[in-house]
Amino acid sequence: MSPTALHPAHLSTADTQPGGGPLMFQRCRWCHTASYRRVLCPACGCGDLDEERSAGLGTVRSIKVVRRAAAAPQAVAVVELEEGVRVRSTVIGGRCGADAVFVGDRVEVTEAPGSSPNHPVFRLSGSPLAR
Ligand SMILES: [Zn+2]
Repeated sequence: MSPTALHPAHLSTADTQPGGGPLMFQRCRWCHTASYRRVLCPACGCGDLDEERSAGLGTVRSIKVVRRAAAAPQAVAVVELEEGVRVRSTVIGGRCGADAVFVGDRVEVTEAPGSSPNHPVFRLSGSPLAR
């Protein structure tokens, strides 16, 4: 056991991809209900879903800070996209870390380490890290 654990707190490398990667969601061909990572439409149960690209902008609807030993706290949030879909994700970019992310905060999707189609990473809109 060495105490030389890396500190991931300051990821200063500029990942300045504006808008990040494409975030996809599904829209029912019949009732136009938007959904995320579903096989069947949650409203009418049909399987005719079209892939659509999200603008990647949303609002934090619930937030939970996950703390693990030897790692920075993570803000795990449910983000409601402008398209009306709720996505479970991680939010970064709070000035004071994960504790500075609140319900109602505006966020945008970003391509950060650990981001995946199943679990996208958002950052706070207008945070200093966003530029
Ligand atoms: Zn439907």
